[in-house]
Amino acid sequence: MVDGIGASSGIAMGRAFVLPAWEWDFPEKLIDVADLAYEFERLYDGIRHSRNEIEQIKQEFVSVLGEEQTQIFDAHLAILEDPIFMNEVQGIMQRQYKAAEVAVKEAIEKFVNMFDLLDDQYMKERALDIKDVGNRLLKHLLGALEETMPPKDKPYILVAKELSPSQMVHLDTKHALGIVTMLGGKTSHVAIMARAMGVPYVVGLEGKLETPIQTGDYLILDGDEGVVHINPEESVIRQYEERQSSLIAIREKLQKLAGFPSRTADGQPFQLAANISSVSELEQALRYGASGVGLFRTEILYMDRSTFPDEEEQFRVYKQVAERLEGRRVVIRTLDIGGDKLLDYLELPEEENPSLGYRSIRISLDRKDLFKTQLRALLRASHYGNIQIMYPMISSLKELAAANEVLAEAKRELEWENQPFNASIKVGIMIEVPAAVMISDLLAQKVDFFSIGTNDLVQYILAVDRMNETVAHLYDPFHPAVVRMLKSTVDNARRFGTHVSVCGELAGDIRALPLWIALGISELSMSVQSILRVKNSLLQSRASESALIWEELAGCGSSEEIAQVLGKYAQHDIAREIDAAPPAQG
Ligand code: PEP
Ligand code: MG
Repeated sequence: MVDGIGASSGIAMGRAFVLPAWEWDFPEKLIDVADLAYEFERLYDGIRHSRNEIEQIKQEFVSVLGEEQTQIFDAHLAILEDPIFMNEVQGIMQRQYKAAEVAVKEAIEKFVNMFDLLDDQYMKERALDIKDVGNRLLKHLLGALEETMPPKDKPYILVAKELSPSQMVHLDTKHALGIVTMLGGKTSHVAIMARAMGVPYVVGLEGKLETPIQTGDYLILDGDEGVVHINPEESVIRQYEERQSSLIAIREKLQKLAGFPSRTADGQPFQLAANISSVSELEQALRYGASGVGLFRTEILYMDRSTFPDEEEQFRVYKQVAERLEGRRVVIRTLDIGGDKLLDYLELPEEENPSLGYRSIRISLDRKDLFKTQLRALLRASHYGNIQIMYPMISSLKELAAANEVLAEAKRELEWENQPFNASIKVGIMIEVPAAVMISDLLAQKVDFFSIGTNDLVQYILAVDRMNETVAHLYDPFHPAVVRMLKSTVDNARRFGTHVSVCGELAGDIRALPLWIALGISELSMSVQSILRVKNSLLQSRASESALIWEELAGCGSSEEIAQVLGKYAQHDIAREIDAAPPAQG
């Protein structure tokens, strides 16, 4: 058994599929003039293999996707034969005596940079194709693993060094039973997406495996305990099969709560909203009885593609969500990329500290073209439902004013064009930077609502990278500094009548529910899969204990003490209401 970090709950049992690491870190090898012919032979061999592989993939996909969708593979085959690209590779080898892989890598970089600079979407897409084909060729030149695609016809547990949110977008949830990665953190976006998809996930095995996991190994992955069993004994398998069936039984019981009013045992109403990143997640949220959407992470919409979505496309998605919610609140967050969320088609500078760097609202304020397109789409969609706009990562009044200035401009344009929109649309901010907490009294006077993003807030308060498994044990949401900052944010919001809710992962953690009650929070927005579990605890909690819990928490000097107080009030049992609950809706 190997200990990792549980990042998405549930048990998965099955065979591993190990994703090869597509990162090219090889020395700048020079070749002898006598070896040039051999090196060219290697290059042609690599091209031959790549061509066969692309043709094979194309054949596999033709039956699934149809002829039209597989044209991309023809484009890839054409690149392998493109004289300009190949002349560049051969030129580097011939003139600079560089090994074939070094020449291919340099040629890819040259063309990708060149195409990226052009203000032409078509050429930018070609840059992506070159990268893709180049990577395939490099894989053959370096003798990397042949198998790069998970099986499409049988279930597997995906094992990878690291995954990116854009890779997650392509995860085939019909066949992926669970995920194991060596690197990553519990509040990374990959973990958040895994939870939203209901796929068990364990991170942080780096340095803990005696021998690497191989494709075909039998794994048991326990996303609650954060452990992975590799080729376990029969008795362990039996034990986990039993646990798995009892978890399924609990899930079925909880489903009954979907249509049950959301309130504490002493009658205080509580909004349990959903964090979503796609329209399909919304459907699930509604099945679980979500009160609305407290956080729509729009960046995922920008990921599964090769160009920025235009205004019309965004408008259609936002409108669909607004209409589907029939007047219920939907908070749509403007683009929050950077950090661990990257777009293939947006070149960001290499940074020492990406989480402290060029990301989120900073990119939006720098790229006002992109920002205004999104705001126009949001405003137009606001005509069709209760859309509210939220800016991420605000750290000063100046930033808020600059964002609002772009919003005002978008409104002026739409008015001029006679396009309908909600002129008094509500605008709020994420509270996820300590600076925002410290000026939350000032910010509260300028916005309609706050949504506390504990994922980033904890990382910035404690100076602990949320993505880094080495310091994961220091990522402590119950640290007294965090609890005090939450208190001060909520108090300042209340002073100025500003609505406040929580949308970080802590909102969906039942251990934290007594904390929200103590702070007087009555709206939480969480990963879809957490809604019913939190509701189950809520139904057994008492709002009248609020002052009492806070009194105990205020005296705590350590996270252990805080966890102990919260543990006293947390409700883990299955609510008695379940048996009396009406049948689940939807
Ligand atoms: C947060 O930081 O708490 C948050 C909700 O935003 P994200 O996880 O997308 O950074
Ligand atoms: Mg955040």
